[in-house]
Amino acid sequence: MKALLLTTCLLLTIFIGCTGNNMNHHFSDTVVILLGPPGSGKGTQAKKISKELQIPHISTGDLFRENLANGTALGNKVKTYMESGNLVPDQIVIDMLVNRVAADDCKNGYLLDGFPRSIAQAEALDKVLENKKIIAINLNVSDDLLIKRIVGRTSCKNCGAIFNDHFNPPKKENICDVCDGELIRRSDDNIDVVRERLKVYHSQTAPLEKFYADKGVLRNINGDRDPEVIFHDIIKSL
Ligand SMILES: [Zn+2]
Repeated sequence: MKALLLTTCLLLTIFIGCTGNNMNHHFSDTVVILLGPPGSGKGTQAKKISKELQIPHISTGDLFRENLANGTALGNKVKTYMESGNLVPDQIVIDMLVNRVAADDCKNGYLLDGFPRSIAQAEALDKVLENKKIIAINLNVSDDLLIKRIVGRTSCKNCGAIFNDHFNPPKKENICDVCDGELIRRSDDNIDVVRERLKVYHSQTAPLEKFYADKGVLRNINGDRDPEVIFHDIIKSL
């Protein structure tokens, strides 16, 4: 009896150990690419995915900031391009990315946010990734909803609290609920600017959708819903 119990315990331990390893193994070497227009809630989802899968969230913005702040050779190159008002070439972004993902915390995979933005970048990324498994999550949100989200957004001049005319209006017009401060609208959040930004996004992203769909790794997620529901769908699609 004792021996049987011991064996059962041992088997259970092995079983649990294996499932644990399988979980890790499932996501090891997986690179999650997050595609989504401005205002799609990409940032929110990126944080949640990164936490759930325990993989680092790498955004191009962060790569730039880190390299500039640390004064790396690549950061200095970036600075030269920025100061002369030129676009930073794809290769420099790729090089920064290669350095970043060589770090120990990326060994089980990582999440890319804001990259790639073009086919040229996606092809360059493919060379870097080689044998890694890729999953491209595409957050689909209708332009009408994006425009409402972005153009309707106001923030408090005083405390930074964020409101939205359509989804989260302040109790008193133009007055912050939290501190009675004045609410302001970002000047580049007007409807024409947002429409133009979305047009550029769609023209850049449509080929990327095809690129990843052809590889069979594109997951289209309806982003017009509650963030928790979207997150659940994303995790299910992995
Ligand atoms: Zn306020």
